[in-house]
Amino acid sequence: MYTATLIPGDGIGPEVTEAARRCIEATGVAINWEEALAGQTSLDKNGSLLPDATIDSIRRNKVALKGPIITPIGGGFRSVNVAIRQALDLYACVRPAKSYQGVRSRFADIDLVIVRENTEDLYAGIEFEQGTPAAASIISETERLSQRKIRPDSGISIKPISAFASKRIVSFAFEYALRHNRKKVTIVHKANIMKFTDGLFLKTGREVAKDYADKIIFEEAIVDNMSMQLVQKPQNYDVLVLPNLYGDIISDLCAGLIGGLGIAPGANIGEGLAVFEAVHGSAPKYQGMNKVNPAAMILSGALMLDYLGETEAAHRLEEALKSVIAEGKTVTYDLKPHRDDRTAAGTKEMADAVIQKLKAIRL
Ligand code: NAD
Repeated sequence: MYTATLIPGDGIGPEVTEAARRCIEATGVAINWEEALAGQTSLDKNGSLLPDATIDSIRRNKVALKGPIITPIGGGFRSVNVAIRQALDLYACVRPAKSYQGVRSRFADIDLVIVRENTEDLYAGIEFEQGTPAAASIISETERLSQRKIRPDSGISIKPISAFASKRIVSFAFEYALRHNRKKVTIVHKANIMKFTDGLFLKTGREVAKDYADKIIFEEAIVDNMSMQLVQKPQNYDVLVLPNLYGDIISDLCAGLIGGLGIAPGANIGEGLAVFEAVHGSAPKYQGMNKVNPAAMILSGALMLDYLGETEAAHRLEEALKSVIAEGKTVTYDLKPHRDDRTAAGTKEMADAVIQKLKAIRL
């Protein structure tokens, strides 16, 4: 029996996490779920966006399934997702992007994995608001050190990239590639422009790659060119390793390549602990409508089972979902030929169909 933390999250989070929880349970792997709050839901209930009890629960259980959490754009509170990743040092964000038969997309044969550095870069959350004394101070000190001008009415975001975190994430990508029988790791950067941050990421990555030279192919790509290559020839790629910001953008691009956010799962992994969540957000306009696709969260659940060493159950869960999607009958609106298709299933009904398949597979 495992114990895992379950964070329902905001918006559509409770619906999709419940669907995933039921599907995971139907694999026969016994999990005792410890429910914990985070995000707007938590703020409304107990006045805290990210209670210590939630972080403690993940630390204790070492594994969590998490629904999406709202982050206000521009102002308001800082991302709770980023706070969780930083508090637990979940340094690797792993997002597989796989084609599934029955999902309408431009390509049918994509099978790649994004490994995104999760703790630093422009997402470190170190920012100075325009017009504040702190912004003025950082501007004047930077001008003094760099002998370059910065407009006085600028806001400033800091982009730290360390050798430590670069080595850790590139090593993770290679180890992941080895464990999952992958052939190639491509490091993605913009080192031609940002020589001391992306440049360090690349230099460190090249060093790490030497240790794997006889086992895994290593390639380098500049992020803008990578975006074009992925849209034209995604089949040429296998494992991609990227700094935080590019990783975020490229993983949504890859979700688009395989047919949308509804089927894109993810994992945030640290030393001995991991939080599994879909790539998509809280889609507030669909909240409580039993309408959105639970597949991304179910696939995140399969990643969680795999992480726990329940490889066979993970495989069965993915196969069950795959066959529901391939049949195209009991699937949500986004997997139907037309978005207003009246035969579209609800979130719960699609999860029920997966559970039925799992039962059939077990017989
Ligand atoms: P979103 O992913 O929530 O929704 C964008 C659109 O994608 C939706 O309107 C919907 O059409 C589609 N979509 C998303 N999930 C779907 C699903 N399961 N099935 C079918 N269609 C689906 O992105 P957004 O609108 O940019 O963000 C909404 C909120 O979510 C924001 O507050 C944002 O900060 C937050 N967010 C949270 C996370 C997270 O918790 N990890 C990730 C991304 C965004």
